[in-house]
Amino acid sequence: MIYDKIETLSVDELRTMQSGRLCTLVQRLYRDVPFYKTAFEKKGIHPDDIKGIEDISKLPFTKKADLRDNYPYKMFAKPMNEISRIHASSGTTGKPTVVGYTQKDLDIFDEVVARSLVAAGARPGMKLHNAYGYGLFTGGLGMHGGATKLGMAVIPVSGGMTERQLTILQDFKPEVMCCTPSYAQTLSEEFAKRNIDTKNLAVQYAILGAEPWTEAIREQVEAGLNVTATNIYGLSEIIGPGVSQEDFEEKGTGSYVWEDHFFPEVVDKDTGAPLPYGQEGVLVFTTLTKEAFPLIRYWTNDICSIYYDKNAKRNYVKMSSIKGRSDDMLIIRGVNLFYTQVEEVIRNTDFAEPNYQLIVTREGTMDKVEVLVEVSQHIDHNNTDLQHQLKGKIKDSIGLSMDISLQAYGSIERSQGGKLKRIFDRRELGG
Ligand code: ADP
Repeated sequence: MIYDKIETLSVDELRTMQSGRLCTLVQRLYRDVPFYKTAFEKKGIHPDDIKGIEDISKLPFTKKADLRDNYPYKMFAKPMNEISRIHASSGTTGKPTVVGYTQKDLDIFDEVVARSLVAAGARPGMKLHNAYGYGLFTGGLGMHGGATKLGMAVIPVSGGMTERQLTILQDFKPEVMCCTPSYAQTLSEEFAKRNIDTKNLAVQYAILGAEPWTEAIREQVEAGLNVTATNIYGLSEIIGPGVSQEDFEEKGTGSYVWEDHFFPEVVDKDTGAPLPYGQEGVLVFTTLTKEAFPLIRYWTNDICSIYYDKNAKRNYVKMSSIKGRSDDMLIIRGVNLFYTQVEEVIRNTDFAEPNYQLIVTREGTMDKVEVLVEVSQHIDHNNTDLQHQLKGKIKDSIGLSMDISLQAYGSIERSQGGKLKRIFDRRELGG
């Protein structure tokens, strides 16, 4: 099932639509947002130079620093009396950025979330256990609006209060749930601790996003909660969750980018040069339809690739799972490291769990990474053979020697509802 026939457009039809929308957008931004007028002039281009989507790379990038410089409202392209809602990024990497929506923007938000829910397996008449945080974070209200539009009954649980989540999942019998992947891990473990058999739950589909995750977590959550888990991606600057979504029947092949609204490019992280399909770089989005807070070539800092999948149901471009944010990338003795790489290695052991932390310190001029990783239940964390095995596997696949510290099952901090911090970089603190 698809939500809307727009999802059946051909690539050519999409390009025509994107071209028209981009041309209108650049004219409007040049006229209405002083930041863009200046940025276009600095680049020596005029909106009339943009004839179609193929010209997009002539346009300047927008970076997070530009949003901070224009904090809180100077990037808005509509007057405040046309704004219906204000959200802010969760501030994972600094001061929050403020975003606004007109009623039409909220309708688009609902539409892309409804599409995403259907791609994830949800259907009208089902109930959604929404464990994304409600508030300034776009997750809670974003999923809520899309589910309402689809014709679902929303259970607005929000994040946290795990005991209550378990009760509601059992008693209210939602067929669909959504939260961060790390919180899904928590919920799955808490059921196990109480010897509650999740096969008796009604929930069939879990929609997970807001932080990077890998197949290791998918396997753990699918088995632990007895669900089909898919990825939802988004960021408040672009709209919120529902920028892209994995289809439950095409799991593991990437997430569809709703490119009629959000045009993606992948560019070189150092030069900004556009990269061909399939090559990994920084994901950049242009919002083609938003009214209140449109962005041109917004530099997300998220690292992934985009590509067309010939076997896919839809002709929309897909994106790979996010490896990490470029500002979260550790450079250790000249080697680039994302925590998801360590998570992949953990998956290939039969004694460790995707519950881990990376502690980075500096001894003299030498950076050191210590991986605290939990062993599976009934495995002895003092087993030095297993410690050496994991060290070897990490060295072989990532090319870095790391100290491994095996921890008892259940001892590493869990998500209490939102995004989970997995990197502790203590270098600035003097090691
Ligand atoms: P903040 O930047 O403060 O965390 P947001 O709450 O808007 O603000 O979070 C958006 C960011 O969350 C994205 O840019 C990305 O880094 C991360 N993110 C969201 N969804 C996913 C996902 N499915 N996979 C990986 N990372 C994700």
